Amino acid sequence: MSGSHNGTPARETLPDMATRTSPPPHEALARAAEVGIHRIPLPTPFAIGDVNVHVVEGDPLTLVDCGPNSATALGALEAGLERLGHRLTDVGRVVVTHQHADHVGLVAAIVERSGAEVACLDLLAPVVEDGESHSRRDDDDALVLMGRHGVESHVAEALHSVATITRHWTSSAPVAVRVPDGGRLEIGGRDWTVHHRPGHSPSDTVLHHAGDRIAFTGDHLLARVSSNALVSRPLGEWDGRRPRPLVAYRESLRATRELDLAIALGGHGDPVVDHRTLVDERLAQQDERAARILQMLGPGPCSAHGLAVAMWGQVAVTQVYLTLSEILGHLDLLLDAGAVVEDVADDAVVLFRQA
Ligand SMILES: [Zn+2]
Repeated sequence: MSGSHNGTPARETLPDMATRTSPPPHEALARAAEVGIHRIPLPTPFAIGDVNVHVVEGDPLTLVDCGPNSATALGALEAGLERLGHRLTDVGRVVVTHQHADHVGLVAAIVERSGAEVACLDLLAPVVEDGESHSRRDDDDALVLMGRHGVESHVAEALHSVATITRHWTSSAPVAVRVPDGGRLEIGGRDWTVHHRPGHSPSDTVLHHAGDRIAFTGDHLLARVSSNALVSRPLGEWDGRRPRPLVAYRESLRATRELDLAIALGGHGDPVVDHRTLVDERLAQQDERAARILQMLGPGPCSAHGLAVAMWGQVAVTQVYLTLSEILGHLDLLLDAGAVVEDVADDAVVLFRQA
């Protein structure tokens, strides 16, 4: 979800998700620094921990992502810039990789202080310009989705209230530069290709510099945690059908796999230096989880939330939207494989059973 459910703790991972333990690729950061790209980690209130802001030297001085809307994050950003010999007022451009609060939250404060122009994927621009109403709409969508998939109404209502409170982690600003999928964006005096890679969020963007074989990947591909594919309304035209973020995410991962890439600078943690291996791992983990869900479903029928509770117990209640998204995403893979059917009746909880 955008700003709001983004505030749900542990958005990016669940306890049993695989984590990787490869050593921090300092060499990758050193190489990025050689071409004028520096990482500033900022604290977030979310379970994922720090978010990476990347500073790109050049004219204009550019930030890729900006951290959550908090005084603590702003202070850390200013201190990080100072260590690099810059001030916040020197920033001339902010590029946003996706709509979540930990990446766009400080945009208003940065623009206000520096007068920087904001650049992003064209589809993302309306969300950056009016995060509040997009968050509200996403929260309302989420309430309906939870009800349709078996979450008790008092639990869904409680989450809806929490989401309202967490909206202040995000902010909005006018977007000066809107780039279409496949278009070019100048960052640090060089041309980067902008790729729309929806899945983790509907607006995930990968910015690729072919010459340096470097990309900014936001939360599309993270070294140590599997990015969740949260159910969220697609941007632009929407036919009203349930979004299928995990299906979209896998397509996006396969497209990113094809990029010629030495270093992927992500929104959290260390850079990815072996993106093809990592994509293959992520796809295999998803296949395994789908198989496990099919096994748990048995002959069925069962609601998606029922499956989440069976799989994660209490976690499925405290993190109900995240676990529901996980289950629905993998059910979509099983539906596409013809292993599962979905019984949809008016006003009734949607049930899944083995085909
Ligand atoms: Zn993030």
